[in-house]
Amino acid sequence: MLSFNVQAEVICYPPITQDELIGLMINTKIRYFPELDKEIVSVTNFKSKDSFLQAQPVIKSLLKRKEKRSYTVQVNPKLLACPPSMEGLEAILVHELEHIVDYTKWSSARIVKHGAKYLLSRKFQIKYERETDRKVLQKSLHEGLAQFREWIYPWLNPKQLKKKRQTYLTPEEIRNSL
Ligand SMILES: [Zn+2]
Repeated sequence: MLSFNVQAEVICYPPITQDELIGLMINTKIRYFPELDKEIVSVTNFKSKDSFLQAQPVIKSLLKRKEKRSYTVQVNPKLLACPPSMEGLEAILVHELEHIVDYTKWSSARIVKHGAKYLLSRKFQIKYERETDRKVLQKSLHEGLAQFREWIYPWLNPKQLKKKRQTYLTPEEIRNSL
């Protein structure tokens, strides 16, 4: 019996620098998030096998007043070396910035509580990430978000892929919601 390798290959767009990603993040923030006008959002790095971007408050700044807090979008250098389409990148940056909008509305205690719950409960994680994806779709970024998910899937082993498809909207779910 023949067996097929159905695992697709990762499609890489030309590499981008961290500075280019910062520029894209700032433009995305200005375009879609006037409410984040006064918030400081930096870009830093993190390493992971199955995760490429994440948004966090700067931990030290949680001790400060809300107005003095700052945030960071963390990027896996693997994404810079082999990025998704610009449309995909923009949609996933919107997803990350939606998290930051949430953080700006919460007290530091609530952020810490949220972080703990997120780590401990798969059910909570799924609910929160899918809600965040729906906010991206409210900005009509269906195609970009679907493209980002299509880009990420070939990086993953079957177990990671299953988890990713549970946690976030899949390309099929995204396109069917149009
Ligand atoms: Zn997220």
